[in-house]
Amino acid sequence: MRPFTYERVTDARAAVAAAASRPGAKFISGGTNLLDLMKLEIERPDHLVDISRLPLGTIEELPDGGVRIGAQTANSDVAADARVRTAYPVLSEALLAGASGQLRNMASVGGNLLQRTRCPYFYYTDSGCNKRDPGSGCDAIGGFNRTHAILGASDACIATHPSDMAVAMTALEARIELLDADGSVRTVAIGDFYRLPGDTPHIETVLRPGEMITGVVLPPPPPGGQLYRKVRDRASYEFALVSVAAVVSTDAGTGADGGTGAGGGTATVMDARVAFGGVAHKPWRSLAAEDSLRERPATMATYRAAAEAAMRDAVGQGGNDFKIELARRTLCRTLDEAARTAGAAGTARRRPGRGGNGHGAS
Ligand code: SF4
Repeated sequence: MRPFTYERVTDARAAVAAAASRPGAKFISGGTNLLDLMKLEIERPDHLVDISRLPLGTIEELPDGGVRIGAQTANSDVAADARVRTAYPVLSEALLAGASGQLRNMASVGGNLLQRTRCPYFYYTDSGCNKRDPGSGCDAIGGFNRTHAILGASDACIATHPSDMAVAMTALEARIELLDADGSVRTVAIGDFYRLPGDTPHIETVLRPGEMITGVVLPPPPPGGQLYRKVRDRASYEFALVSVAAVVSTDAGTGADGGTGAGGGTATVMDARVAFGGVAHKPWRSLAAEDSLRERPATMATYRAAAEAAMRDAVGQGGNDFKIELARRTLCRTLDEAARTAGAAGTARRRPGRGGNGHGAS
């Protein structure tokens, strides 16, 4: 590890000023990714600005019914928060699907958003990696690419974004609050926050130099059932091969084939949000899948059509070809379960005392 200097700040504006005054400075909070990268000399900051003690560790309810999550809130605190568990269960589920209990206690929300890819070549410093050393090539292309991207990749980089939390936040249409070195504040929709690799895979977000994440704003929860499903090589402490965050509202049917809709027939999908993890350089929202779901029967045939739409442009790299079908199947199963949840909740709301068809929890 290379020598560096360190300071701890207790004020957000002091933090951005400190980072701006030292080229080569980086913010550090939980350090659960940055310290590993520094030990491998992949990250080589001259100066660390410790922002872990900033008063940005609370979750506040907003007048419009949304919530604001401070950037220094621990992942475990967000996952356990009663308001998040009730109104944004997809976020709580995604957080609990990530890392380990110890890491979730240390990792901040801001740090989670900015964690780097787990592409093995990125960490193996003898290999060519355009993200680590621009212009050095990409050894994952034609190499071991079982975990790599099937959507939005480029000839320069086929890495995936590792965060589960960011996938759920994408489905929830979160906005990221940023504080610039000049003291100005802006918010960026999470869908615009991350970049695809293109020719510059080392530039991963739209963050300006010295800019700091201060919080994440979740709009009021969308109607419907929410679900996060993660498929990985082992049951815990592993990154997603494919994950899906889904929000599905129906006309209060059960969401199952042959289920009961508002008029007594098969339920209809009223609206849906679909975001994938583990498939691209950023959390991947599929508007094509969402369009194909709207006002369609909540049946497996509809979900399969949505999965086809979502994966229409998917391209395998050899080792990860299986992910395309895995993503389709994971989406179908997640939509089905989310729709059942939506139907059960809607049925319970509208017809207290009457059960569904036995699939839901009404
Ligand atoms: Fe580096 Fe991206 Fe290629 Fe992995 S996929 S080796 S991170 S350039």
